[in-house]
Amino acid sequence: MTTNAETTTSTETTAGAPEIRVRGLHKSFGDNEVLRGIDLDIRQGEVVCVIGPSGSGKSTLLRCVNLLEEPTRGQVFVGGTEVTDPDVNIDAVRRRIGMVFQQFNLFPHLTVTENLTLPQRRVLKRDKAEAARVAAENLQRVGLAEKAAAYPSSLSGGQQQRVAIARALAMGPEVMLFDEPTSALDPELVGDVLAVMRMLADDGMTMMVVTHEMTFAREVADRVVFMDGGVIVEEGAPEQVIGAPSHERTRHFLSRLL
Ligand code: ADP
Ligand code: MG
Repeated sequence: MTTNAETTTSTETTAGAPEIRVRGLHKSFGDNEVLRGIDLDIRQGEVVCVIGPSGSGKSTLLRCVNLLEEPTRGQVFVGGTEVTDPDVNIDAVRRRIGMVFQQFNLFPHLTVTENLTLPQRRVLKRDKAEAARVAAENLQRVGLAEKAAAYPSSLSGGQQQRVAIARALAMGPEVMLFDEPTSALDPELVGDVLAVMRMLADDGMTMMVVTHEMTFAREVADRVVFMDGGVIVEEGAPEQVIGAPSHERTRHFLSRLL
């Protein structure tokens, strides 16, 4: 344990302090060093889109933020709590972070409402009525109130992903992490999911979004981070990173998306 000020663990968010703070983050799988020193701050209410080629470490970075992967070295803070502190209560930290994956991972044998109430009851110990109320509220938010009693298999991929977002929101997270939430969807279903994410951004949610949707990144992100080879090559306003990238690697990546 070092003695520098950043390692001071506090459960309260200091005004103006970043909601997510990553310092000197390294992650290796065996000999494969996937993250090679990542430093990143995300302020409260900020939307940061992470772009970059396949294998550049985007998912690993997100997974290190909520400790689905254990960093090899470095520190991650969420809302002022050092989540990489060995003594931290990981479950308490994860409750503050909503995560949405490419695959929606809904329980097929449960209705939409039950998919939303189960984690609230299990993890947050909410009673049945309260969990149902929060579920209904969040289904409304993603535009799927009428699907409350449906089973996931009867929904389109886009609707299932919106249910997955509502399930995460029902837990009352401080930040939302999205890992290519629209990559598994048919093109005509992407728009509805992005619209829900846009709404969340407008509502002031702190969001970290790995995506290949450059229009979304341009229009919604406050900041775009381009990763390649386990490092942040370039970051800045979308009009800068996407519109006028200063690094050859960024230009090369963007040219291949067109
Ligand atoms: P991206 O999301 O940018 O495509 P990832 O973070 O998924 O990149 O992967 C970066 C690298 O880490 C890849 O080489 C991948 O094979 C490797 N990797 C990711 N997860 C694991 C794991 N659980 N075990 C071993 N290697 C992994
Ligand atoms: Mg990935």
